[in-house]
Amino acid sequence: MEIPEERRSMVKGQIVRRGLKSTALLKAFLKVDRARFIPSQNRHLAHHDSPVPIGSGQTISQPFMAAYMLDLLEVRPEMKILEVGAGSGYVLALIAAMGARPYGIEFVPDLAGKIAPRLEGGGMGEIPVLAGDGGEGWPEFAPFDRILVSAACPRVPEPLLGQLADGGILIAPTGGAYSQVVEKVTRSSGGIQRELLSGCVFVPLRGAHGFR
Ligand code: SAH
Repeated sequence: MEIPEERRSMVKGQIVRRGLKSTALLKAFLKVDRARFIPSQNRHLAHHDSPVPIGSGQTISQPFMAAYMLDLLEVRPEMKILEVGAGSGYVLALIAAMGARPYGIEFVPDLAGKIAPRLEGGGMGEIPVLAGDGGEGWPEFAPFDRILVSAACPRVPEPLLGQLADGGILIAPTGGAYSQVVEKVTRSSGGIQRELLSGCVFVPLRGAHGFR
């Protein structure tokens, strides 16, 4: 498959240049066309180094931020991975491209309804997507090997910790409504470990575990 030049330079200039090296990760970004996840009026921004509006006041994540979080998540083939705040479905497509099994939850019904057809249209196969409050997780499919929260939350929602498998990793932007820190939670037999990493800015999580 021929990879368009603008996608190559997005990966090289925004992701490789900032130090991410995982081959599986870079291959996924080369494979998935970000433009397919952006409404036509904003499609000219598809390879920009920034979030882009996708409607309903929400945005598709900046490519580097998605890459950074997926890198921290240590995605491996066949893992069950839950994304809370699936938005456009771009990150679900990247997870599928890495050979893992994504599950998505999106709060805004209008956005949620478009994700599965878009992924199937892109040849990504059937990916389970739920319209609802992702702060509650998805008990029916738990436990998950990995959980990615793609919206800002005051703290890691408690139900998600309960749905993280042993040896699992959860990544979430936690802190205030306007700026957060990427938090990494690792679950092992010895309990839960937390690390605070880089600063970041995400749209706020809604629902029971979001901001009042
Ligand atoms: N990874 C997505 C990011 C979308 S932005 C992408 O790149 O397209 C974050 C998304 O989280 C928004 O679409 C927002 O509607 C959604 N969101 C906010 N609160 C939520 C909640 N409680 N449960 C599920 N999704 C939520």
